[in-house]
Amino acid sequence: MRFDLITIFPEFFAGPLDHGIVRRAQEAGIAEIHVQDLREFVKDRHRTVDDRPFGGGEGMVLKPEPLFEAVEKLLGHGVGDAEKRVPSEAGTAVVLMSAAGRLFTQETARRYAKLERLILICGRYEGVDERVAEFLATEEISVGDYVLSGGELPAAIVVDAVTRLLPGALGNEASTENESFRELEPSETAQAATVPQPRQAKLLLDFPHYTRPAEYRGWKAPEVLIGGNHAEVAKWRRQHAAEKTRRNRPDL
Ligand code: SAH
Repeated sequence: MRFDLITIFPEFFAGPLDHGIVRRAQEAGIAEIHVQDLREFVKDRHRTVDDRPFGGGEGMVLKPEPLFEAVEKLLGHGVGDAEKRVPSEAGTAVVLMSAAGRLFTQETARRYAKLERLILICGRYEGVDERVAEFLATEEISVGDYVLSGGELPAAIVVDAVTRLLPGALGNEASTENESFRELEPSETAQAATVPQPRQAKLLLDFPHYTRPAEYRGWKAPEVLIGGNHAEVAKWRRQHAAEKTRRNRPDL
């Protein structure tokens, strides 16, 4: 899968994407991550990417031209204009990182992991000219209900969450099947019946993990996990994943 990150701070990504699973996925050719410097797409001498907001007010806004041109160059074709829009390609999403976007969830990550290409636009300052959200991006995505100072951390979050779902990315490490936010099988929902009625699919958080020592400062790891009875272990994990989900995330 190919990721393009469009940013005015390309150096930002030296580090966050160079460790662990994401690094190995790149080395194995499972993920290709390209960081694009927005200023490279600016024609004027001063490389201006931002301007003052129409209507007045604080701060600066990222201009539409450099972003449209950057995305069109990456796509290899134009996206059109008010007269005639060029439809977007299946298999590619152009995502604007935005505090005012739709919430990014594990389900979004699963959907993106099926694409061939993700182009992520990182905003800065007061944000981005709205025509980018309306006519260039195919979606506008927020990583949570808080305001950050730039779209770079959110974009890195999306790349990480999606990359680890790509086939082969986890290598020998645990599979993604039992992780937090997996969807409950119909046979499991009866067991979790006390969970308040959800709006969508029921999701389950991960079960608690323990490792050696079996007793630490008098706090014991659950006996059943040490016993080695696989059926009992599986039952304990199901129950405690459900219990933890009820306690920490009843909304799920
Ligand atoms: N004025 C905007 C915030 C701008 S923050 C507002 O009130 O909604 C500057 C940039 O940071 C945004 O353009 C966006 O790209 C990024 N950003 C901030 N918070 C974010 C979040 N929760 N999720 C995704 N991107 C975010």
